[in-house]
This record gives sequence, C-alpha cells and structure tokens, in this order.
Amino acid sequence: MFASLAGRAVIVTGASKGIGRGIALRFASVGCQVLVVARTQGDAESVVAEIGAAGGRARAFAGDVTRQADMQAMAGAAVEAFGRVDVLCANAGIFPAAPLGAMSEAEFDAVIATNLKGNFLAVSACLPALKARGAGRIVLTSSITGPVTGFPGWSHYGASKAGQLGFMRTAAIELAPFGITVNAVLPGNIATEGLAGMGAEYRAAMAASVPMKRLGSVDDIANAALYFASDEAAYVTGQSLVIDGGQILPESLAALGG
Ligand code: NAP
Repeated sequence: MFASLAGRAVIVTGASKGIGRGIALRFASVGCQVLVVARTQGDAESVVAEIGAAGGRARAFAGDVTRQADMQAMAGAAVEAFGRVDVLCANAGIFPAAPLGAMSEAEFDAVIATNLKGNFLAVSACLPALKARGAGRIVLTSSITGPVTGFPGWSHYGASKAGQLGFMRTAAIELAPFGITVNAVLPGNIATEGLAGMGAEYRAAMAASVPMKRLGSVDDIANAALYFASDEAAYVTGQSLVIDGGQILPESLAALGG
C-alpha cells in the first residue's frame, strides 16, 4: 500500500538514532528521499551512509529543533536537495527524568522547548513547502506518557507529549484546506539508544508490563508513520495512534496474569 510514497521528499528530525533513524530508514526503503536531521552532524551522516549503502537517497542536516533559524535552514536544505517537501516527521525529543521538587525551571524549559516548541518551529518552517505540494503530511512523535499514562519523573515530558496532541488538533484544522494532514504516533516503550540509557532494570520492568511481553521496535513506529504519510491516509487527520503492544490496557497486575 505504500507504493504511493516512492519519490516523496521526507524530513525526519531526531533521525540519527532510535525511532527517528528507524523512520528515516523505513521511508528510504520505500523509495523516499530523506533529510536526516540531528544536532550531531557525524551521527546524521552515518544514517545517510547507511541509507546510501542500501541503495536509497538521503542527505544529512545538522540542526537544533529548538532554534527557529535552524528549522528554517532545514526546510531550505530539503527544498535545495530534493526540490520539495512532502512529509515532515517531527520526531526529535528528549526524556531526562526529574521528580517534582527537584526539577529545575531550566530542566522543565528544555523538555518543553525540544518536544513541544520544536514541533511548532519545524512545522512552521516547512509550511510554505508543504502548502506548495497541496497534499503535505505531518507526523508527530508523541508518546503514551502524558496523553494516556503518567510515570514518576516525567511530569515535564508528559506535559510536552500531551501538548503535542493539542497542537496537532488545531494544526489539523488550520491546514486541512491546504490538503495537509497532521497526525501523531504514540509509542509505548521502544528499544532505542535513548531507552538504553534508562538501564536494564527499567527495560526489563517495562517489557514485563507489556501484554506482548517485549519492548517495541523502531519499525513498529516507522510503519505507522508510513501509513499516516501515504496517499491512502489522505482523509485521516488530527488523529493519534497508540503503538505499545497493549501496554496501556491492563487495569492491574492481575490483568497481566500476576
Ligand atoms: P533517542 O534514541 O534519544 O534519539 C533522539 C534523537 O533526537 C537523536 O537523533 C538526537 O540527536 C535527536 N535530538 C535530540 N534533541 C534534539 C534537538 N534539540 N534538535 C534536533 N535533534 C535532536 O530518542 P528515541 O527514544 O528514539 O525517541 C525519539 C522520539 O520518540 C522522542 O520524541 C521521544 O519522546 C519519543 N518516544 C520514545 C519512546 C521510547 O520508548 N524510546 C517512547 C515514546 C515516545 P542529537 O542528540 O545529535 O541531536
């Protein structure tokens, strides 16, 4: 069903690692041209090399989603490299943990700036190019944490991820007349470099709390992003899709079988 995506120009922020890297590789695998965006140029270039080695087409762009000038330069780089922007995957995000009482104002601001304001800046910068296509696609990477669940240490993160969905709903209405859809993927616990930093004990506890008894893969999320970006999803906008192996479903430990 994703044949419609061949040749599309796709920007993926936070694409040097984890879910973003998975999204970039997956879009490239169906014939898209991908701008791989992250702050660390060398890491972005590694993903570009990986895509090139597999026969795909990609470029690296070093930019910070919290900086308006970087996001405008990012959109310009995509247009220069590919002649257009069809899809923006606003995926870059951070999840440093800090309990209330110990969380500093700077920590709160950094999470909101990257995860929420970063969406606004990336979307705003790409709008002229997306409007020019008449069928643009925006896919936000939110989370189950915030929109559906809570987790100690992540009040700022949960607020940013729920905020993304509020942003999405009004953006979807405003951009519908231009044929642009705005949707969100809500990952559960996905095996990424970022999650590796949480430690083995955390990952094992998370896998145990998932009815499917495993962490998600980056492809689990990338496949949903492909769907939202496809022509087949042209009438789907302002929606969020939980991809979590059933993690949000159990009422209690008993529901998991003890
Ligand atoms: P990750 O492995 O830590 O990778 C994060 C990526 O974002 C890297 O490429 C990083 O590269 C980039 N990045 C971070 N800050 C940036 C900034 N200010 N500007 C541009 N790029 C930036 O993270 P992940 O686990 O894949 O998570 C990706 C997204 O999925 C996030 O939005 C996260 O909230 C969401 N998510 C993840 C999970 C999970 O289980 N992993 C669950 C739910 C939601 P640089 O450091 O070089 O910039």
